[in-house]
Amino acid sequence: MTQLSTPPSAPSAAPSSAVAHVEALLASYPDFPQPGIVFRDLNPVFADAIAFRAIIDDLAERYRGQFDAVAGIEARGFLLAAAVGYAANAAVLAVRKGGKLPGTVLTEEYDLEYGSARLELEVGQLPAGTRVLILDDVLATGGTIAATTRLIERAGYTLTGVGVVLELGDLHGRDRLAAAPVHAIISM
Ligand code: AMP
Repeated sequence: MTQLSTPPSAPSAAPSSAVAHVEALLASYPDFPQPGIVFRDLNPVFADAIAFRAIIDDLAERYRGQFDAVAGIEARGFLLAAAVGYAANAAVLAVRKGGKLPGTVLTEEYDLEYGSARLELEVGQLPAGTRVLILDDVLATGGTIAATTRLIERAGYTLTGVGVVLELGDLHGRDRLAAAPVHAIISM
């Protein structure tokens, strides 16, 4: 596993000890939720106060001053978005799975590493041009975050970038996200 993006000397880089601590907590479950998938469980990272603070600080610092709102993708992205939003004094948008939001919503269909799904965003929550940072736990094939970028752009917001804790590099999800910079704390 290697740390991505910012060099160690940059103020926004997570300390290598923090990255190592997060890496050590990652759990892997072969053949879950179906054969052939190695599920990467970040819950042990969220359950460790030092590791959780390290990932929130890293995500907030990486894009400091560049966003007015964070968009968290259901469900683990909510944990990141709430904390980063609080840390950065930014608004929080919830990108939800299909059928859960009331009122007028934008909808995007997308493919997963396993299966397909639908994401939705309520319209009119923030002014047009609001700078939005998208957050999720894992970047796999990139379908989920690509669909979210489309929602953000269709809503009239300006996409600042994408932040994830873990990128599964073999799946090349980053290649589907040409619209904005992608920051992953850990790549494997
Ligand atoms: P994708 O659209 O393929 O990039 O999938 C990303 C979303 O699915 C994230 O919200 C992840 O939580 C979840 N996901 C996909 N593949 C995995 C995996 N191997 N381990 C853990 N979560 C995954």
